[in-house]
Amino acid sequence: MRNYSIQPSPIISLPITGSNDRFPVRRIYCVGRNYADHVREMGGDPNRSTPIFFTKSRETIVGSRETIPYPPLTENLHFEIELVVAMAGKTEIFGYGVGLDMTRRDIQAVAKKGGKPWDMAKNFDDSAPCSAIMKASEAPDISAAEIMLTNNGSVKQISTLNKMIWSVDEIISHLNETVTLAAGDLIYTGTPEGVGAVIAGETLVGTIEGLPEVKVSYD
Ligand code: MN
Repeated sequence: MRNYSIQPSPIISLPITGSNDRFPVRRIYCVGRNYADHVREMGGDPNRSTPIFFTKSRETIVGSRETIPYPPLTENLHFEIELVVAMAGKTEIFGYGVGLDMTRRDIQAVAKKGGKPWDMAKNFDDSAPCSAIMKASEAPDISAAEIMLTNNGSVKQISTLNKMIWSVDEIISHLNETVTLAAGDLIYTGTPEGVGAVIAGETLVGTIEGLPEVKVSYD
């Protein structure tokens, strides 16, 4: 029995549809620039090079149907709806969910302009809302599924998963060249075009055909 000087952090987990078990989250990887029309709206060139990755702490996870305080240090909090892949091992997929890669776009813009890291634009409290996870064995074929985000009921982002520049298998393969993926890792696979701001009092709903939805409201 080992004693700790402070209380160890709790295990962060997500519900699994149709199960009483929970999916314990290990690391969170996010893919940047994975839909050409989103790369263009951000002023970039979507020519395929290599995927870019960044991370969020697992403590940024927020479950669906929660209310989130509007975060500090931003006046331009953006939604980015994304397919989330939950890993069962280095290359094995456990299941899929729908996530929001919330972004303090104003902080990101300043950091990019100054050639500085943009962690604080991405990895802040409550910045990774996520739906329940659906086991891959129970999920329908989502390779061309519709992905959509609404803000207070109005459609802001809509696309299909077959527009991803890098497929899920390619993302997993690239990540494993850089780090070693393991059971519990989540991958946010990038957002389509239509990103925009959410303000206090608004409710975001993210859906991918056949998967559980993610819904969060801002205080
Ligand atoms: Mn993103």
